[in-house]
Amino acid sequence: MKRNRKKYSKPCTAVLAAATAFVFTGCGSYGIQAYQSTDIAMGTVVTQTIYAAGGEEQGEGITGDILRLLRNLEQEKLSWRISMSELAQINESAGQEAGHGLSEDMEEYLAEILAAARVSGGAFDPTLGKVTKLWNIDGWTVGGQGEIPPAKEIQALLEHTGYEKVNIRDHRIYMEADTSLDLGAAGKGIASDEIKAFLEEESKVSGAVISVGGSILTYGQKPDGTPWQIGITDPQNPGSSLGKLSLEGSWCVSTSGDYERYVEIDGIRYHHILDPSTGYPADSGIRGVTILSKSGILSDILSTACFVAGKEKALELAELYEAELLLVTEGGEIVMTEGMKACFTPYTS
Ligand code: FAD
Ligand code: MG
Repeated sequence: MKRNRKKYSKPCTAVLAAATAFVFTGCGSYGIQAYQSTDIAMGTVVTQTIYAAGGEEQGEGITGDILRLLRNLEQEKLSWRISMSELAQINESAGQEAGHGLSEDMEEYLAEILAAARVSGGAFDPTLGKVTKLWNIDGWTVGGQGEIPPAKEIQALLEHTGYEKVNIRDHRIYMEADTSLDLGAAGKGIASDEIKAFLEEESKVSGAVISVGGSILTYGQKPDGTPWQIGITDPQNPGSSLGKLSLEGSWCVSTSGDYERYVEIDGIRYHHILDPSTGYPADSGIRGVTILSKSGILSDILSTACFVAGKEKALELAELYEAELLLVTEGGEIVMTEGMKACFTPYTS
């Protein structure tokens, strides 16, 4: 029997106006106007460009609604840092015989996440919570200082990781003691899916491009009918782009790279994407992976999974999930699936 889908609090605009850097960018055709905003949510920068009919107030209302949706998703569901969130409560229940009841949407997210963990042979691992905490990844500032945790502590925590430590039965989750979920590698993709569902109900929006950190959603059309242009960061030189994707309609694009979050220790770079088999930053010969998919959660999961799995397995995973992939190796080689090649234009400087 289908249960009632638990909804997040209704997006409300009033709270957001103060936090939103709002830009009204003028008129397009048929009364459609572009609205832009830049904010912070989910520990990252959120930029929105919305094409909608109506006045400035209308655009401000929609970008505000989307920001509210993101913050509710973070606070009510996905943050492992906020004690009242569903994820924090799931973590709290680890080792308890009764497990923890799941909302319908969390059950759907976890089904996708655990399946990908299995299919990727554990390269994607949502149970690294205690290991990412030990590395203090949240405390890192790009290029700043950090400490390598003692090898014994990493080893001890790895005893409690792995998708097989998590079971879902009759809408309840059961986790072994000391197992802890971290959905940092899937949450922004989930956000893209939830924003898309919101926009599909928001008839005034004809097109949008919304970036939540490394996950980007394109939606609908631009007023002038030209494709969306998404730049792909050059991992060797993160200030510039390797090229651009030209996309028609609604897509999710997620990128995982070793330049996003890292610390330097004794001249060596330690980045935030861990190899679950070692507990140390993945060393698969890849510097960045971009995935193009209709699904936000899959694009986010796969960008991380492919980064850890290495080139050959990454291509297999992309094929299996019917996603398009672009990866950059340590040597600077760019590897793409055929579908990615069809929409990628390199910048040749
Ligand atoms: P991705 O490759 O998508 O994800 C990497 C992250 O996933 C790592 O940081 C780690 O947490 C986890 N991970 C590492 N290796 C693996 C693996 N093999 N398999 C699965 N997962 C792995 N950051 C803050 O500093 N403060 C915050 O308050 C904060 N709140 C957040 C709230 C939410 C709901 C989410 C989703 C993220 C939050 N973040 C926060 C995290 C921040 O946005 C991260 O930088 C981001 O999640 C990493 O994303 P990415 O796209 O760079 O890399
Ligand atoms: Mg990811």
